[in-house]
Amino acid sequence: MFGRRGAPAPAAPVVREAPVIEEPPPLALILDRFCLAYQGSFCSVCSERCPAGGAITVEQGKPRVNPDFCTGCKICHDVCPAPKNAVFLVSRKPRQGMVVRPTDPTPT
Ligand code: SF4
Ligand code: SF4
Repeated sequence: MFGRRGAPAPAAPVVREAPVIEEPPPLALILDRFCLAYQGSFCSVCSERCPAGGAITVEQGKPRVNPDFCTGCKICHDVCPAPKNAVFLVSRKPRQGMVVRPTDPTPT
């Protein structure tokens, strides 16, 4: 390809695609002050409907999310019957000031 007066045409600018940054799936958190089970009523809807085995365990009638098994599918949020939905989906990406505790600390 030649431009005016026979000089080679300038090369087309290289367009680089922005790297795709994969977001980790969100994590379900149960707020005990909104959760019926923590407030003295019986409720086990979230643990019954959660499709990920082991993601919600129930101890003494109270549900708890295990981050190692939660896939962030949001079903527990969608089915929670509490007047103020007790399930929140939060980012797993650590933010400034966030304290991250290991779920299964190994003894030292
Ligand atoms: S977000 Fe999905 S996998 Fe995680 S606890 Fe809720 S229902 Fe289970
Ligand atoms: S469905 Fe909602 S209110 Fe019921 S146990 Fe789960 S978080 Fe609590």
